[in-house]
Amino acid sequence: MDILNGAVTLVTGASRGLGKDIALELAEAGARLACVATRAENAAATVAEIQRRGGQAIALGCRVEVAAEVSRLFGQLEEQLGPCDILVNNAGITRPQLTLEMTEENWDQHMDINVKSVFLCSQAAARQMRPRRSGCIINIGSILGRNAFPATLGYCTSKAAVDHMTRVLAIEWARYGIRVNCVAPGYIQTDMIDRLVEDKKLTVEDLKKRTPQRRLGTGRDVAKAVRFVASQDAGFMTGEVMVIDGGWTAFGYYQT
Ligand code: NDP
Repeated sequence: MDILNGAVTLVTGASRGLGKDIALELAEAGARLACVATRAENAAATVAEIQRRGGQAIALGCRVEVAAEVSRLFGQLEEQLGPCDILVNNAGITRPQLTLEMTEENWDQHMDINVKSVFLCSQAAARQMRPRRSGCIINIGSILGRNAFPATLGYCTSKAAVDHMTRVLAIEWARYGIRVNCVAPGYIQTDMIDRLVEDKKLTVEDLKKRTPQRRLGTGRDVAKAVRFVASQDAGFMTGEVMVIDGGWTAFGYYQT
């Protein structure tokens, strides 16, 4: 199905994990992809996979929290593929620390990479979208932006900010035909989770037990939701946070 019909689409954090699956899914739907990671070579494997499947993609490098690099990124995008139609703000980090021991650096990293980047990239994308009176921005939030989890003050606060930024941008830019939504995943099997397991911050078994569907999500679960939100089927949807979590946030009982 060619629902995205050549749409110029930039996905941040597309070297692995959710960003890679989102890029593959949107390419399959007909989008032309710019796959972004801290360094272009990190996104090369995603680009190669899209091309192998017959899609169009380029790899670009950018630290998404650095304004000058974001400005250069969107310049390269326009030059190489054209102005941005769809932006997926996916790049993000988590560095769990107990709040009493948390460092200023930890706080700043979460705010810069998870929040400031969304502002910078969305602003740059919207400047390319506004003249054409059309565009779609999808932020990748988290269930941690809605529910409170221990030892994750920086991450939880940053993702709550992403939820609310979604609403503010949506109402400000609706007049330009730009939709802004957020897809908020629960626990998804990626490197991010593998690192937390390695660091003994959590176990996969405990996560499964706490999830009504009794499984972790896959990148594809999230990518399918992003594909829907990016499509015209979601044309009247803006300012929304869509949770994809196997029932985690709906669950209010005790663990059995
Ligand atoms: P991964 O750690 O697997 O991948 C992170 C991606 O972000 C990589 O492509 C990395 O690029 C990129 N990245 C990191 N820092 C920067 C930076 N400063 N500038 C540009 N790119 C950067 O993460 P996930 O796939 O698990 O997570 C992706 C998003 O989904 C995040 O926003 C995360 O918060 C969110 N999320 C994840 C969940 C999960 O369970 N996995 C659950 C809920 C939300 P590089 O290869 O160059 O380092």
